[in-house]
Amino acid sequence: MAKQTTIQKEAQVEGIGLHTGNKSTVVFKPAQAGYGIKFIRVDLPEKPEIEAIWQNAVTGMAVRGSVIGKGDARVHTIEHIMSSACALGIDNLQIEINNNEPPILDGSARLFADALMKAGIKELDAPKEYFIITEPFHFEAGKTKISAYPSDKFEIDCAIGFEHPFLKHQQISLEVNKEIFCNEVVGARTFCFDYEIEALQKNGLALGGSLDNAIVVALDGIHNKEPLRYDNEFVRHKVLDLIGDLYLAGKPVKAKITAEKPGHQNNIGFIKEFVKKAVIKKETTTAEAAMESSQTGTTAGERILSHEEVLKIIPHRYPFIMIDKVKINEAEPLKATGYKCVSGNEGFFQGHFPGAPIMPGVLIVEAMAQTSCVMFLSKPEMKNCLAYFMSIDNVKFRRPVKPGDYLELKVEVVKDGGRRGKMKGQAFADGKLMTEAEFMFVIVDKTAG
Ligand code: ZN
Repeated sequence: MAKQTTIQKEAQVEGIGLHTGNKSTVVFKPAQAGYGIKFIRVDLPEKPEIEAIWQNAVTGMAVRGSVIGKGDARVHTIEHIMSSACALGIDNLQIEINNNEPPILDGSARLFADALMKAGIKELDAPKEYFIITEPFHFEAGKTKISAYPSDKFEIDCAIGFEHPFLKHQQISLEVNKEIFCNEVVGARTFCFDYEIEALQKNGLALGGSLDNAIVVALDGIHNKEPLRYDNEFVRHKVLDLIGDLYLAGKPVKAKITAEKPGHQNNIGFIKEFVKKAVIKKETTTAEAAMESSQTGTTAGERILSHEEVLKIIPHRYPFIMIDKVKINEAEPLKATGYKCVSGNEGFFQGHFPGAPIMPGVLIVEAMAQTSCVMFLSKPEMKNCLAYFMSIDNVKFRRPVKPGDYLELKVEVVKDGGRRGKMKGQAFADGKLMTEAEFMFVIVDKTAG
């Protein structure tokens, strides 16, 4: 059973804040199970404690970062600390701060994550809890679209788009865990456009900003001497911020999140709605999970193959893997159900069609075919086989599949000739039949060529 964690010993970081320009020292301290993440303004007379949860988020003002508050006490720009704590799996943390904004440091989360890792992570004697969802959920505000889909992991697919000659469209998809965060996300710096600096500072923002702590984007490149740390550093920083903002749920999230043009205010708007739809799940042991599934009525032979398992079974890879998970059932070996979260970030939506995204029907048929491949090739006796599709027939595209749809791909062998036969596939979204098709298959040995 996964347990809650905190840090082993104190750690300290200091510097100036990005927006206020104020100098501060942040001291991370261990906390007991169930404490959560709290900022303590040790410079104020009452030393107010502000829990880092969406209920304490200060919204509606001209802000560029995530701000929490209680009474008049505020802590600005908490997202890089929150992101580090979330990705490192830290559930409980006391954060003393002697001013109203943590240091921006190099503009990324690297020094926070380093300090926390150096302090060491310690397990506590309490089960870890997560927010999970059982149904897809969509949120839209202004130009931001964020969706959540059921998943047993925390995954993010994020896209940004600007009307700017140097920075137009960037997209990234990753699982959020300690290793991936430290390799792919932690060093991505915050950024702004050069033309907006004057306006930001007039509004009392970015007062501590400099080329040492933010990328400043020009029309034809960046103003900073340090080159970009990743080709798509900008979208990676958006992921960094999103992880931090989602942690304002109060517990880690296990879901697949797809986000188009995220921003702090809307991220917080999303999380507020998300927790209403979500349920809290304690990390269970395999035996407990088996007990639960027997209570929810899933049959003993039924099994969900995770995305990693699917990738081990079929050779398809990004950008041509059209299924996320597959449910198989030992008791019904000639049937399977594939699942696909159709995200607005899918590459094909950019051209199909600009302004009116529709999933190409042939890709839905492909998703059915891939589900069938997983069904066949997950059988131990077919380990060294390949499945080919010989023909497709009776294809009907009944309704358009759009971003945000959660496809359920039901496939079934209708004529079984052993290694040759006929299948029927149906794709549903929200219980409605979207596409159906029939196809002939043949199974061949890999060595047969
Ligand atoms: Zn940021």
